[in-house]
Amino acid sequence: MILPVVKYGHPRLRQKGARIETVTADIRRLIADMFETMNASKGIGLAAQQVGQALQLTVLDLRVVTERPSTLEQNGQPADVNDFMPLVLINPEVQAVGEPVAGPEGCLSFPEIYAEISRPETVDVKALNEKGQPIEFRCGGLLARAVQHETDHLNGILFIDRMDRKTKAELRDELDELQATTKAALAADRKK
Ligand code: ZN
Repeated sequence: MILPVVKYGHPRLRQKGARIETVTADIRRLIADMFETMNASKGIGLAAQQVGQALQLTVLDLRVVTERPSTLEQNGQPADVNDFMPLVLINPEVQAVGEPVAGPEGCLSFPEIYAEISRPETVDVKALNEKGQPIEFRCGGLLARAVQHETDHLNGILFIDRMDRKTKAELRDELDELQATTKAALAADRKK
């Protein structure tokens, strides 16, 4: 089922996700719905907060992007990124390894808004997969960026929080408008 994606201005986006201790049937259903929702929106990553659930759960699939490379290593050995897609991360913990690099980012909760964001180029990731099994890997490039963007969501952090001051000032009007539209829609819903 395709779920509505909540937009900037919705309070859920600022909520830290609860840890998931067991992958229940409800969680499996949510994972399937999140993939369907992400694919329908042509996204490469989606966090539970973006479909209104404050949980430590994100889904990623980078196979649609070919022009921005990623690297992946498991147990010190290079691995094929596509073999890890689609990727589910539950309770992810991310540790920066490389130096920060700037790169373009967008977000399904911020339609039409893009910006250069500086993030560590390489990260170590520990999480549970969709079966509740622990996984560990080191990644770089687009995958590292996407994992950091999504893990931020799980902690209530948005990419606008990572923008430099000048970029955020340039986007101020668009951001204010989006936030106001979202809040107005929420207020109208409450009156129904
Ligand atoms: Zn996002």
